[in-house]
Amino acid sequence: MSDNQTLENIPPYLSPSSSSLFEQCAMKWKFSYVDRLPDPPGESALLGTFAHEVLEFLLQETPHNRTKEKARELARVIWPKIENDTDFLALSLDEDEVRNFKWKSWNAIEGLWKLEEPSEVEVQDTERDVRVVLEGVPFRGVVDRVDKEGQSVIVADYKSGKVPQKRYAGDKIRQVLLYAAAIREADGELPSKARLLFLGQETIETEVTEEALEEPLQRLKNTWKQLNVACTSNMFSTTTGPLCAWCPFVTHCPDGEEQVRQLVRNKRVRHDAPALEALSLI
Ligand code: SF4
Repeated sequence: MSDNQTLENIPPYLSPSSSSLFEQCAMKWKFSYVDRLPDPPGESALLGTFAHEVLEFLLQETPHNRTKEKARELARVIWPKIENDTDFLALSLDEDEVRNFKWKSWNAIEGLWKLEEPSEVEVQDTERDVRVVLEGVPFRGVVDRVDKEGQSVIVADYKSGKVPQKRYAGDKIRQVLLYAAAIREADGELPSKARLLFLGQETIETEVTEEALEEPLQRLKNTWKQLNVACTSNMFSTTTGPLCAWCPFVTHCPDGEEQVRQLVRNKRVRHDAPALEALSLI
């Protein structure tokens, strides 16, 4: 690979999801962002896309229009787009499974009312695409919502998956804190709170202070540095572990394959892990 080609592999910006993937496994990041190997979103990711889109339009309505009825109407309008999406078609769901998908999506959408009264939210922005430089790192993030509460600015992110156990929540909290840092950089005002709205479950909220931003920003900077080194040298390390059994690129990764075989030998892998079928281990 020529020097120019390796430099081309350096992305123009780092998003929280790209950064988190690189931290998880540099090789996995390469398969996804450099080689662009297919990794079609599964059912839960598509469900999240559907719920996000309905809520995005709902919160753009005037406050008194943000009703469940309006949400249902929006869901009906947006549904054909989801239903005809090639990734959704690739799931090959039968009639009952499609009904179940719609039911779960509606539960997520309606789940917003368990967390807040949408008509009382003072929305400043939805799906705000923020591109700034943070600590020398070109950063891009799409913030689900920027709200106002009195004089304070709040960043909020919808989550349609399960609330993670405490030890796994750090990654998601870091993400909203980076959004807060990006909003500060773009608008000159530091949001006071960052929120994760786990639809239908609970809200996880954190105060945004200079101190709280330190670790996520330092981590972003380190990841960017390591990513540049990896792209320039075209050397991406593998980080093997239980997640290899769920990695969509395992058939391209000898280290990952060996890890999965070992997990199987030690009976330490769930029977529904996708790698088992991909590697013909069942
Ligand atoms: S199989 Fe494991 S080591 Fe290989 S790319 Fe995926 S996560 Fe990384």
